[in-house]
Amino acid sequence: MKIAVFSSKRYNRIFLSQINEAKHEIMFFEEALKAQTAKLAQGFDAVCIFVNDTVCAETIACLKSEKVGCIALRCAGFNNVDLKAAEAANISVFRVPRYSPHAVAEHTAALLLAVNRKIHRAHSRVREGNFSIDGLLGFDLHGKTIGLIGSGAIGTAMARIALGFGMRVLMHDPYPSAECQSLDVNWVGIPDLILQADIISLHCPLLPSTHHIIDDSLIEQMKTGVIIINTSRGASIDTKALIRGLKARKIGAVGLDVYEEEENLFFEDRSDQIIDDEVFSRLLTFPNVLITSHQAFFTEEALERIASVTLANLEAWKNGDPLENAVNSI
Ligand code: NAD
Repeated sequence: MKIAVFSSKRYNRIFLSQINEAKHEIMFFEEALKAQTAKLAQGFDAVCIFVNDTVCAETIACLKSEKVGCIALRCAGFNNVDLKAAEAANISVFRVPRYSPHAVAEHTAALLLAVNRKIHRAHSRVREGNFSIDGLLGFDLHGKTIGLIGSGAIGTAMARIALGFGMRVLMHDPYPSAECQSLDVNWVGIPDLILQADIISLHCPLLPSTHHIIDDSLIEQMKTGVIIINTSRGASIDTKALIRGLKARKIGAVGLDVYEEEENLFFEDRSDQIIDDEVFSRLLTFPNVLITSHQAFFTEEALERIASVTLANLEAWKNGDPLENAVNSI
């Protein structure tokens, strides 16, 4: 089978090549897959993509005309694929669910600990010989209330971490996961979660129903000083509303691993460029905002699993076996 891997980085080459053992012909492209680059898929049976490739109807039409039969997502989220267009074009789509919920939950905890105890600022101070701790005051997580939106694999792993810290966990999910229901958490609606939580963390997929789930009106109802963490998808938060909440001193701190317009920024070294995105640049000016570049998934265990499940998905598709990780339009 011939596989075109888009948005590929050194680490994708290493992990996919190791597991493939030269069985399939894999070509690695640094380009993101979008309508303008879909021609590169000419002669390939399958394309393998990541979070910021744009598989819209136009891209799908190009893939169809190049006789590409499947789209293998090497991630869990699939909001960047027009599933209806893929189905109409008879192109299979599959993903890698639950490749390492611990990787993402642990990064969520890292962001929370860092913004609460101001580790990013402390690090800069000490490096510059400034050993003052004034302004670095945090609060105990023990005894505080965390509100988790989404009780899937990552939300459940995060709930376990939060319980380990001695926190009270509020959970919201229209379809509560069985695994999470066995934990000592309180199931609440969004209004109660927003009113009661000292910390709010997002673990739901990006869907029309979760687009800008955190907006001006919810921020207004939050506790003053609330910490907001987002490791799910950028567009779950209205970033301009977040900035308004920060400026109003309503929000105490923010930790983000994802950003609405990240496809034009993240995963590349842009240190010698001027950033044109005014919203992102404004976010960077707040001392109480910490942003990482979509790296929550980035552990050895996760990369190994992503590579092995992606190749197993492709193999199953090629052999006509049942596709357990297929993503279908609803
Ligand atoms: P999952 O499918 O196991 O769980 C998602 C949960 O969200 C489900 O229980 C679902 O019922 C729930 N949900 C759906 N709509 C909701 C709503 N309106 N409100 C609250 N909950 C809702 O997914 P997961 O593996 O836990 O991943 C969650 C998300 O994390 C992914 O969709 C992806 O966007 C993101 N993610 C980010 C990274 C990263 O590196 N930052 C890595 C992996 C996944």
